[in-house]
Amino acid sequence: METPTHIRPDKAPSRGAERIDVHNPATGEKIGSVPVEDARAVAAAVSRARLAQREWAARSVADRAREVLKFRSELVRQADDVADLLVRENGKTRNEAFGMEIFPVCDLVTYFAKRASKILAPQPIRLHLMLHRRSVVHYVPRGVVGIISPWNFPFAIPLGETLMALIAGNAVVLKPSEITPLIAQKAKELWDRAGLPKDLFQVVTGRGETGAALIESGVNQIIFTGSVATGKRVAAACGAKLIPCTMELGGKAPAVVCDDAPLERTARALVWGAFANSGQVCVSVERAYVPQSIHDALVDRIVALTLELRQGDGHDEVDVGAMTWDRQIDTVERQVDEAIRLGARALTGGKRRDGRGRFYPPTVLVDCTPDMPIVRAETFGPVLPICKVSSVDEAMRLANDSHLGLNAYVFTADRRRGEELAVRIEAGSVMVNDVLSVYGMPETPFGGVKESGLGRVHSDDGLRDLCDKRHVNIDRVGLPKKELWWYPYSQKTIDLTKRAMRFLYRG
Ligand code: NAD
Repeated sequence: METPTHIRPDKAPSRGAERIDVHNPATGEKIGSVPVEDARAVAAAVSRARLAQREWAARSVADRAREVLKFRSELVRQADDVADLLVRENGKTRNEAFGMEIFPVCDLVTYFAKRASKILAPQPIRLHLMLHRRSVVHYVPRGVVGIISPWNFPFAIPLGETLMALIAGNAVVLKPSEITPLIAQKAKELWDRAGLPKDLFQVVTGRGETGAALIESGVNQIIFTGSVATGKRVAAACGAKLIPCTMELGGKAPAVVCDDAPLERTARALVWGAFANSGQVCVSVERAYVPQSIHDALVDRIVALTLELRQGDGHDEVDVGAMTWDRQIDTVERQVDEAIRLGARALTGGKRRDGRGRFYPPTVLVDCTPDMPIVRAETFGPVLPICKVSSVDEAMRLANDSHLGLNAYVFTADRRRGEELAVRIEAGSVMVNDVLSVYGMPETPFGGVKESGLGRVHSDDGLRDLCDKRHVNIDRVGLPKKELWWYPYSQKTIDLTKRAMRFLYRG
């Protein structure tokens, strides 16, 4: 993997190991550095985690949940410091740091702490045929879970996954993005401050090689969140070791706007959905399909709302912050330039802001066509490409014409029609008349179809998926000497089987 230009390796004189510098995207100022940990360091962290996990797994779910809530208390106590670091390291606004990173983690851990005992309780299965036996599924922690995370929500994503894995009885070794590693170290500091078992949750820092070493280190499961390209490499590496893996990958969320869509709400939703977190959200509105009948009115309102947005350093009272990664702003620039060359018009923004910091202004693009890269490839920046369509059917066809399928949105005044359209969109989650916030609903399954990923995080299923399923089958009545189908084989058994088949499966 190429080294991003804003993180240059230097040498730490005390340890002689390579380090990664981290810079504030809004100011360019260096704010810290972390070591690049090699395969030996990663393996040592996993071994320590494994030892700690044995004792942890032996405790009851309720006990573990109570313990993990101490992390929440520490987070609430230090919320301002956490928000401050999120703004400095990631470039987001303070509102986003609280509303999209810190609060969702508090809520998620509270939800699962309350419910985990029930969700992970042994589940009896009623057998339909072998009524003399009884089956129960037990949820057994997998062991050490490796989490590899991206830079766009460097707190909410890995911490949500981490806290769920811990409540389920696992240890966690987290490899955060090399672009935003400091907030993961802060999370580890909160964990230690809360007096929780140190080795149970560890953070290893470095680039892709450190992530690859984590997969090779003997962990029992990988939860990966990141790009499709890296996800395919990670899934292949997990496949080679037959480790279960959850893949949370890229998105290109479409918004299907119906001709009866409530104009003001739709305009506001699209503006927030496209520009929140500078558009660096896997579920950002990345393309809108708008019918001719309301196109101009909706676009006028979207442009007016976009022009009101204040952009700047997230510590100030602004609506849109900086872009976190230099290579991402290059991608945005390239895609917008190309779209304009192919005939799109930028009604706002359209050009990187000069001067200090990494800012791309919120950009509304109209006259977009389905073949443009800005409509096909993930942009991951503050751009709202709008395509004019002649009907909702055309919008639906274009919405599904994508290799990605993470989230999608439908706007209509008719809820029933909204639901009917929603179930026809090929995506992991579809919201009607709203955007983005599904990630903040921990009880719902989150993940993608097509190249947007495999498996689900959040929800009862997501928690159970952090466990091995151990099926125990036991007799429930007095035991005969042998079952009918055991040795010795005989014609009598075949005759009985045939009679049973004629009786059970006739018609
Ligand atoms: P990325 O794929 O470049 O990196 C993600 C992580 O993988 C980083 O920690 C990186 O160091 C690590 N990594 C790189 N190569 C590796 C390898 N060979 N083995 C193991 N680990 C390796 O992604 P990114 O640029 O950090 O994040 C942006 C992407 O993440 C976007 O595509 C976005 O849509 C996606 N994303 C998806 C979700 C979701 O829930 N589906 C959420 C947030 C972001």
